[in-house]
Amino acid sequence: MASTILEDYQREFAASKRLFERSNKVIVGGITHDGRYLNPFPPFIATANGSHKMSVDGRDLIDYAVGHGSLIFGHNDPEITEAMQNRVAEGTHLGAGHENEVLWAEQIVKLVPSAERVRFTASGTESTLLAMRIARGYTQKSTILKFEGHFHGWQDYALKGEKPPFENVKVPGIPAETLGTVSVLPSNDLAMLEERLVQGDVAAVILEPSGASWATIPLKEQFLEGVRELTRKHDVLLIFDEVITGFRWAPGGAQQRFGVIPDLTTMAKIVAGGMPGGAVAGRADVMEIMKFTDDAAWNANRRVPQAGTYNANPLAAVAGYTCLRKVDDRSIHDYCDAHAATLRSAMNQVLNKYDAPGFAWGESSVFHVALDTTCTNRPDGDLHTPEGVDPEYLKKSGGTPLSQILEIGMLVEGVHLFHAGGFICTEHDSQDIEKTIAAFDRVIGRMQEEGLFADT
Ligand code: PMP
Repeated sequence: MASTILEDYQREFAASKRLFERSNKVIVGGITHDGRYLNPFPPFIATANGSHKMSVDGRDLIDYAVGHGSLIFGHNDPEITEAMQNRVAEGTHLGAGHENEVLWAEQIVKLVPSAERVRFTASGTESTLLAMRIARGYTQKSTILKFEGHFHGWQDYALKGEKPPFENVKVPGIPAETLGTVSVLPSNDLAMLEERLVQGDVAAVILEPSGASWATIPLKEQFLEGVRELTRKHDVLLIFDEVITGFRWAPGGAQQRFGVIPDLTTMAKIVAGGMPGGAVAGRADVMEIMKFTDDAAWNANRRVPQAGTYNANPLAAVAGYTCLRKVDDRSIHDYCDAHAATLRSAMNQVLNKYDAPGFAWGESSVFHVALDTTCTNRPDGDLHTPEGVDPEYLKKSGGTPLSQILEIGMLVEGVHLFHAGGFICTEHDSQDIEKTIAAFDRVIGRMQEEGLFADT
């Protein structure tokens, strides 16, 4: 009898399995990011280059994780690598300001429409933490309003309502008092938003301008404009979390693509050229709440503090600056967007061909695949907004048992997906895309043969 997808994976990725078993003895759960969980074990990677990486098993993989979306130029971009190599020899922590952080900030101000002033952090999570603190300090109000499913990192104010069921008010490890300062609403309902804002306690509204988890739960047309109007009307700050969309949706991020300008923007990933680094940028008058003045009382009682050993670390600064100079070129985004649209369309054709219960969707240069769906809508072209599908279902789509088998099947075929979807980088070429579509065809065919769609 022919082997199953799972049996093939166990055989082909045996070295990964051994490393996972070793890892489990010293690293809790064997993984260093919840998002890398894969049952029965995740792949372990040895090296990467361009759009590909090599597993410890010696399997060449087309990579759609590309640094969790941070490597828009793929792995080891020659210019970014050279800039970092030069910097390593000149000192990697100066314990002081340096020219590269200024160049980096100047480039952010040049590219991002809302950015008048910048502060650096060491990650996206730190960026959202800082932006929330700035908003609370500036407005002297305490509530942060966020939307169901939107991911803003793993800090204590960011996780309420992030995972289905969205109405769940508890997050293990986070005090109820802390969660009580965060209000969560479904996206796409402006009337509900206004009803909440009139209560007067909201410092800021934060959202992913792509919709939750890089367009997994798409936003309705005019929703961003509506949120902008309502926040302005009720004197509430608007924070765009552009950790993923920044420099990917357009050189100036989603705010440039959609023409909606927030008060504050949080960034990480591409902003630091794939190095650990992040930034908060925004209106000068708001950002200046962080500034020291000659007034001791202001400094002690009004000024919003921030520190961080690795803020604007020289390696992140040169990688980020080099990356942002390169990213100021719309042809990059057109190229990546076109490849993502090709993938989404072709994947929908494959799902149709096998009458598989699912669909692919997304926007800009990202794609998602949902399997095991109640949705009867079977698009055979590109899809941005899956109509009539429960937002909780969309949010869960990357982690269902069937999507895990899809990921495993794709690994066997030489493709590494990310949450059953992924990001396009400039190094993905037509051959990569064709191979990915062929691999997807074989995996969906095999899943059907194995009877995995039978009871959906
Ligand atoms: N915000 C968004 C929109 C993100 O996608 C992420 C990470 N995927 C974060 C914040 C957190 O960033 P980091 O992982 O660098 O802490």
